[in-house]
Amino acid sequence: MAGECILCGKCLEICPLLAATGREELGPRAKADLCYLLGRDEAGLRGADVARLAGLCLGCGRCAAVCSQGVDVPGLVAGLRGAHPEFRHWLWRAWLTHADALWPAGSAAARLVPESLRPDRFGSLLRMLAGLGREPGLTPFLTPTTFPDTHRGEPVLLFPGCTATLVRPGWLAAARRLLDGLGADILPGDFRCCGGGLKSAGFANEARNMARHNINVWRGAGRPRVAVFCASCQSALRGYGAFFEDAAEAGAWQSSLIVLSMLAKDIGFALSGAAPERIGYHRPCHAEGADSDRLLLAAALGDRLVTATDRQCCGFGGVMRLGAPELGDQVGRVCWDRLAGAELALTGCSACAAQLAAAAPRGVAAGHWLEAVG
Ligand code: SF4
Ligand code: SF4
Repeated sequence: MAGECILCGKCLEICPLLAATGREELGPRAKADLCYLLGRDEAGLRGADVARLAGLCLGCGRCAAVCSQGVDVPGLVAGLRGAHPEFRHWLWRAWLTHADALWPAGSAAARLVPESLRPDRFGSLLRMLAGLGREPGLTPFLTPTTFPDTHRGEPVLLFPGCTATLVRPGWLAAARRLLDGLGADILPGDFRCCGGGLKSAGFANEARNMARHNINVWRGAGRPRVAVFCASCQSALRGYGAFFEDAAEAGAWQSSLIVLSMLAKDIGFALSGAAPERIGYHRPCHAEGADSDRLLLAAALGDRLVTATDRQCCGFGGVMRLGAPELGDQVGRVCWDRLAGAELALTGCSACAAQLAAAAPRGVAAGHWLEAVG
């Protein structure tokens, strides 16, 4: 049950934006306070100021996870964004709802700007855009060799997410190979965007439409397991509870969601000569439950897995990238400090993979762990 902020300060210890900038006005307690005052019409702020402040949150959810009062700061910020939309929010909405047309065009345009001419403030943003081409990504170095019999014949829907659908088909192909090897019965399913990015930007109606469509795909397939390989998508799908009228069906939906690496955790892998010696692993902020991505990689990589983060925010930040890219970069540098020494960082989230690759130190690569699977 959501309550009021009691100013305990617990969330201040884990907000990556506050840690990277030292600016308490950007932290969750200040945002909770602001939302409370706005609710009572006591803040005395202009709409433009509110919209600007609402833009300054990464939406990582780390504050909400530790709050004993159930204060959901990213949810409150999403409400503010919805009530005070400005051009960046509309831009972000177009970016997500017309991804099939805008991502390739944005990527091609970003590639036209030479690295030397990119303004510092937008350098990593342009690198991220440029990285949205349909390149194969990393050279695979993990070959599945042995498959357990535990999921043979099990019907499974595969939730691909926008990135794999539009620009990283290799992730989807690798995920299918793993499920095929397990003997799972992969059902056809025309899922759309999970709606998570739209929801956090304040576009609740659009997010609801996505959710309803995806739920109907699941119903139409007979309510099977849904395998997901992006932590951000998984978190958004877990938030669909309010769209069910029937509590039992809502429970069945929650139970159906499973991280792909959980299904694949007992697959045996062989390392090829292309495997880097020192590999890091990044656990996304939105990851929940047991870290099966890390368990799979630890078993497959052995002592080549030399460093890992645990929900250290990468600085992606969704709509915040457009309004304050330099703050996202500050947060991203702290994350890369924790991954120091790795030649390659692997993760299980499409947003983190894009952000880590865009902000990686020179000579260091990053990508989704499925890119490593040949
Ligand atoms: S938002 Fe929650 S954790 Fe943060 S200061 Fe308020 S009560 Fe404490
Ligand atoms: S969602 Fe993340 S960035 Fe935003 S206030 Fe909470 S901890 Fe800070």
